[in-house]
Parts: sequence; structure tokens; C-alpha cells
Amino acid sequence: MKYELVCGLETHVELSTKTKIFCGCRSHFGSEPNTNCCPICIGLPGTLPKLNKEVVRYAIMAGLATHCEINLISKMDRKNYVYPDLPKAYQISQYDLPLCKNGYVELESGKKIRINRIHIEEDAGKLVHKGQDVLIDYNRGGVPLIEIVTHPDISSSDEAKEYIEKLQSIMRYIDVSDCKMQEGSMRCDVNISVRHEGETKLGVRTEIKNMNSITFITKAIDYETERQIDAIQSGGEIYQETLRYSEETNSTESMRNKENANDYRYFGEPDLITIKTNKEDLEKYKTQLPEFADGRCKRYVNDYDISKSDAKLLVKYKKVSDFFEKSIKGIDKPKTVSNLILGVIFRYIENESDKQEFNIKVLPEDLNKLVLLMQENKININLAKKALGQMMETGKKVSEVIPDDYLQEISGEEIKEICKKVIKSNDSAVKDYLSGKDKALKFLLGQVMKETKGKADAKFIEKILAGEIKNA
Ligand code: ZN
Ligand code: MN
Repeated sequence: MKYELVCGLETHVELSTKTKIFCGCRSHFGSEPNTNCCPICIGLPGTLPKLNKEVVRYAIMAGLATHCEINLISKMDRKNYVYPDLPKAYQISQYDLPLCKNGYVELESGKKIRINRIHIEEDAGKLVHKGQDVLIDYNRGGVPLIEIVTHPDISSSDEAKEYIEKLQSIMRYIDVSDCKMQEGSMRCDVNISVRHEGETKLGVRTEIKNMNSITFITKAIDYETERQIDAIQSGGEIYQETLRYSEETNSTESMRNKENANDYRYFGEPDLITIKTNKEDLEKYKTQLPEFADGRCKRYVNDYDISKSDAKLLVKYKKVSDFFEKSIKGIDKPKTVSNLILGVIFRYIENESDKQEFNIKVLPEDLNKLVLLMQENKININLAKKALGQMMETGKKVSEVIPDDYLQEISGEEIKEICKKVIKSNDSAVKDYLSGKDKALKFLLGQVMKETKGKADAKFIEKILAGEIKNA
């Protein structure tokens, strides 16, 4: 009998607000340990939290971007547990009234992975293992998080991968998080159970905690699915437990029995007031949502004749896509711009993180100027590529890498001769031009450009062509 996987994800996303969720400390990643801390975020008794409004706005944006309903009334709750990274012995989170609920992320197949809820909460500190010692860095304590909880709609590790990538893209497009899994600003808990195909009842699930690599998430899902099927088929039982995935052995091991919600003794946070949101603000936020990667991708394919695989590369990071859109103003064939970005500019960008930042020396206006020169037949593609390479390396402007005198390298006399030759061998175009079709002159111009290898100035050639035709 065949088994199927039933998987749900809980994704923690660190919000990129400047300050923490309940105090004014910086929420910056990578600072010296324990330098972004104060009595509030290290949980000293007698301190009072104050909710950062920006956190609420960011979380609502995340909810709107994933088609959630926003609860106009929401509140914070205490989730009690003891661990050294959490000195208060409770995490301020949300329990029965999360900020957002009932959304979805759509996969390419059209399948919707339903989002049960998105709530806000504080991050805990970080344990650093050094030899025999365990050190604690509280910089991360109080960094704002949203936790995005799906329904168990995911049926394969591929779907899990796609969902996470889509979620990453959406959060990055609205700029609420950089979602860098390797830095821990996006982490997934993976809930897994199996059942006979076609069965509707859910099996007993296990939860793999705190995964921060898409590659390992897919491996862990595949491993755990097999493990559960094997256990059931050999007459064993699945226990509800929390697992740790080991990258070294590609297997899961038990951490503890899975806790239920009542183990946390949730209760309303007495030090914080109700979070109220109004409809006017929601409407305003909706207008601030950008066009997302999927929409842009479709548009590039349909309107600009760009291949789907290229379009996907362009929209993967918003900054690249924004750069592309600024560069194509007044350009007849945006595909040329796409080719230059993917073929030349990307060669100078080493990794995904740099693509995400897209901090390059070339401005979109510069690329636009360069492609306009091509469009006007003043330079050919090879020269454009070479020039763009130089611009990427040196930060020089178009006029510096393609100096004006380059365009005059061929003497006026030579150009005149070539014009005459082209006029002679293109009777019909000349007739068209004389009968008032201005476009015919562009055709002749193109022919001359070919002959001069793009080194002559288009305006100059046009003048000569028009004059020569008149004289002929
Ligand atoms: Zn603080
Ligand atoms: Mn959480």
C-alpha cells in the first residue's frame, strides 16, 4: 500500500526593523556579543516592555502579501518555558488572537499552501558552544519575529522547497526581512506525518526543529518520511516528538517528547495593551504592496519576449528586477537589457547574497544609455558587452568607455563612399524613402552601420544619406 507525506511548516522570519520589539536596542545582526542589550531585552525584573509599532506594520504587510485576513484586534501572550537563551523564562508571543490568519502562498502548479496564522513574537538569545563552555549572546533576544504557520498542505519535499522560496521572495519584495537562512533570519520547523494514500485522517506527527538550509530541509523531509513509513510497515509506532536533524549523518534524532500548547501555560501578557488596527491603515498598506516576482515574471515573458528561465533570474531579487525596469525606459527590445544583465553584469556578482544586495557600480541610467547607443546602431553588441564589463569594473560612465571620438574614427569621406554604395545597391528602399516613407532611411542607415561596423555617428550618416539621395 502506498503512503503519502503530510507536511506543514512553521517559519520564523526575523523582521528588519531598526530596533527590537519591546525596547530601543538595535536589532542588527553581527554585532559584538551582548552589545545590543538593555534591562528590558535581558529580562530583568521590574522592567516593562513597550511594543514597537513598526513591528506591527511589518507583520501586517507580511499578512497582506500572503492574502491573510488581518485581525483588527489582537493581543500578546506569555509562552512559558525555561531555557538559558530566555532569561525571563517566558517568551512574549501571540496565542489565541494572532495578527493575521487564513492566507496562502500559491505554488507554480496553482496549488495553494494555506497559511493558518501569522503572529508576532520576540526572538530568544543565542547559545554559542565553545569547547566545554556554553556562552550566551543576548543580542538576538527581543529581535522581532513573525511566525508563519501553514496548514499541513505540503505533500513533497519539492513543494516544501518551493513554498519556502516563494515565502522568501515575498518577504524580501516587501522588504520586511532579508530572509537569510544562513544568518538565521529565516528558520523552519518542519512537521511531518505519513498516511495511506487517500486517507483523510492525519497520522502521528514529528517535528524537526530549527532548520536553516533549504537543501537540508528537503533532505530531512525525505529521510523522516522514509523513517516513518519503515517504522509503520515493520509494525512499529510513531511517537509525537521533537527531532533534531543531523547534517553529518542525514538522519533525525529525538530531542524530547513533543510538547502541547497547554505545556506552555499561555496567558495574556499583562504588561502590554491590546493591539488595535484600523481599516483605513489596512487600505493604505494595501496600496504599498509592490508587484511581486510571479507577476513581474509573467509580464516579462508576455510583454518583453524574455524566456521564462531568464525572467525568473531577473525577478528573483527585487533590486535586480527594479534595476532592469529602470534600464529599459525607451528601449525597443528590453530583451537586450536582460541579456546584458544576466550575461555581463551577473558575471561580476559572485554569490546569491551579492545579487540580493545588488550593490553595483553601474546605474540603470548608464545601462540605458549604452543600450540606446546599440538601438541607434552606433555600437554593436560586442562593443556594448566590452564597455559594460569596463563599467562594472571601474565605475566609469558610458561616455568614458565609449568616447565620442570613437564614433568618428571613420573619416567623413569614407562614410560618404559607403553611403553611395548602399544607395546604389538598395533601389527599392531609396524609392520608398523618396515616396515619403521615412522608415526606409532607417533601413539604409542600418546598412551603412553594418559596413562601418557601428563606428559612425547615426545622425551624421542620416544627413549624408539624405543629401546623397537628393543629389542622385
Ligand atoms: Zn533592549
Ligand atoms: Mn515561535
